Amino acid sequence: MLDRVTGVVSSDSIERKDILNLIKTVYNTVVYVDLTADSHKVLYATSDEVERSLIKLESNSAWFEVCADIIMVYREDFDEFRKFCDVDRISSWLRKGEKYMCLQFRRLSGGQFRWSLMEIVAAENSSYDELAVYIYIRDVDEDYRRHIEEKNLFKMVESNELIKNTILLVEDDDISRTLLYGILAPSYKVITAGNGREALSVLERDGDAVSLIILDLYMPEMNGYEFISALKEHPTIKMIPIIVTTSHDTADEEIKCFREGVFDFISKPYSSDVIISRVNNAIKVNYNRNMLSVLRMDNVTGLYSREYFTQMAEQMLYRNPDIEYDVICSEIENFRAIKEQYGIKIGKAILQYVANQYRKYQCDGSIIGMVRPEMFAMIVPHGYNAYEQMKYSFKPENIDDKAMEFGIPKFVQKFGVYEKVDRSKPVLTMCDRAQIAMGTIKGHYGDNVAKYDSSMRDTLVKNQKILTNMEEAIRSKQFQVWFQPKHDLCSGKVVGAEALVRWIHPQYGYMSPGEFIPVFEANGFVTKVDHFVWEQTFEAISRWRKNNMPVVPISINMSRMDFIRREDTHKIITLAKQYNIDPKDVHLEVTETAYMDNPGSVLDGVNELKDYGFAIEMDDFGSGYSSLSVFGEMPVDVLKLDMLFIQQKQSDKGDKTIKYIIDLAKALDLKVIAEGVETVEQASRLQNMGCDYAQGFFYSRPIPMDEFEEYVLNAECCCV
Ligand code: C2E
Ligand code: CA
Ligand code: CA
Repeated sequence: MLDRVTGVVSSDSIERKDILNLIKTVYNTVVYVDLTADSHKVLYATSDEVERSLIKLESNSAWFEVCADIIMVYREDFDEFRKFCDVDRISSWLRKGEKYMCLQFRRLSGGQFRWSLMEIVAAENSSYDELAVYIYIRDVDEDYRRHIEEKNLFKMVESNELIKNTILLVEDDDISRTLLYGILAPSYKVITAGNGREALSVLERDGDAVSLIILDLYMPEMNGYEFISALKEHPTIKMIPIIVTTSHDTADEEIKCFREGVFDFISKPYSSDVIISRVNNAIKVNYNRNMLSVLRMDNVTGLYSREYFTQMAEQMLYRNPDIEYDVICSEIENFRAIKEQYGIKIGKAILQYVANQYRKYQCDGSIIGMVRPEMFAMIVPHGYNAYEQMKYSFKPENIDDKAMEFGIPKFVQKFGVYEKVDRSKPVLTMCDRAQIAMGTIKGHYGDNVAKYDSSMRDTLVKNQKILTNMEEAIRSKQFQVWFQPKHDLCSGKVVGAEALVRWIHPQYGYMSPGEFIPVFEANGFVTKVDHFVWEQTFEAISRWRKNNMPVVPISINMSRMDFIRREDTHKIITLAKQYNIDPKDVHLEVTETAYMDNPGSVLDGVNELKDYGFAIEMDDFGSGYSSLSVFGEMPVDVLKLDMLFIQQKQSDKGDKTIKYIIDLAKALDLKVIAEGVETVEQASRLQNMGCDYAQGFFYSRPIPMDEFEEYVLNAECCCV
């Protein structure tokens, strides 16, 4: 590693690779854009194929134009993002001599919205006439950002400057000290010590700030060797590199010093150039080494970081071509809500607990890491037998006690498994596949493992297509509102109806909301669809009123996303006023899971809507992690039993549960409606149990508006 001419450690290649690794760890996408030549080059993009597709676009303007769509920017941040990406704006900003600008926005990544940061940095070769920039995009989700900021890494990389370097010069000889001080002081902050003991006390006090020690071996009180062995006792300061000054320059001495871990030598007579180069090298190499060890581990769980996990996994796959592997990923369901409600400390304790479970069941030849801030990943030889045990250890009934220890009602770990991985794919793609599988059981009580199959991928691709068509779909009226009547179980009269959206897609034909609503919920578009449904419904009600037609209360579905921004929640009141709607003509259905996901904002929103006069129905009750305590907080008027209850095989136990819920609801003065009623037998069972209303195919399927108007005209109604 020593350069023969200068005697300097040639660290160039190590450094470049390390910096590259660092960049890959930190950034999801790096693009070089030559604004003058109207060309760009994607220098790095995560395995995400969406981002890869950026590569295909020819011109910058095209790139900037579709960038927001392609990286799936949250619609609320969309306009600002587009403005930020305006090519003319960037150009004029560069011409003013600016070098750096950034924007935080949310985008869909790994199935959920994450805060991301787009940074635009003027390229070194950019001039007034030839403008060029680098664009860096990275996830800066809360924990991730904190993790990185704690390590203070970004500042260093962004300014392209190494740590504020302080050198401790340990030398008893006045002349040598003055000489070295004179060489180093213009470039570094230099502090001095006259012997080993003094140096140790300086380090104990200010060790964090010191980047390098320059050490004379021969000193009174505590000589250089004694100092080095004393230093080894200190866990942190022992990492500081040491350069030894020698006048003797003997090979034996050098060997001895290298054995002790000394980094390099400088010998008299001192040449300023050589000293500065060696000092620079020592600091840089050490900095990179520290940085890598920081980046190797996830700081909460102590498991491998994403980058290191992938590197290790790739190596393992390469070294064991005959072994088949599985990738298992897992996440704690509703982790964000848990963290919000119970605090970051509990969140961390849970992550650490899960990490320890992984360690406990880890087998030989497997690797565990955190591939996203809160997502665990393990790559194991196929057929890994401890997997059953691990799954078992996370079953709800086996983990409830642990949850109690943390002071939370429960936590659920969902696993996605990608078996017999396709080794031609990058490791992160393997994790994505396990994650796709995991996504299919999100919110499904009782299912905690899903295996990946290729149809899941097709669904994902279809979802992507759904996303690209949505704005157009609203414009060209592809959405329709249908109605499904609700009946009184005793009298059989129509007591209301639920408005359900339908999408008649020009390519896919009739699409079920079960297919597209979850996709729209993930990208925030659901609020637009809901506004459309509300408006259509209100328009209809006001028309019925005007024409003296029978009017029953219409229930409208509210998505969890409708409660994120106050304006979206408020929109329903604005529209009701605009169409002159009496609030008693409208019920709002809110799912229990929406409330669980985001108790604070849902509660505020529901209270506002309830105060305005809308009746509130708790939808899908019993499908999530029901807790009756919800009713203590939520102003609910009607409880809507999830169809699971009535559709499961009839049993005494099942009926007792339904009866119990109905009795409880009555005690709380709530009305109860059962959905999914398909047979006369189900209807009479429910009636016997005291249920008030029912909705389901037994009475009517959801029907288009004109059919519904007809239905209401021909049936007996409890009009309001
Ligand atoms: P949901 O609110 O639980 O709506 C009830 C679903 O059950 C509807 O499915 C309905 O067609 C179906 N259903 C009704 N009776 C029966 C029955 O007897 N048997 C069976 N097996 N199913 C029955 P749909 O219309 O496909 O809607 C699915 C979900 O999509 C809804 O579940 C709701 O969560 C969501 N959704 C529908 N329209 C909207 C909307 O306008 N806005 C929002 N945010 N979500 C909507
Ligand atoms: Ca509903
Ligand atoms: Ca429902």
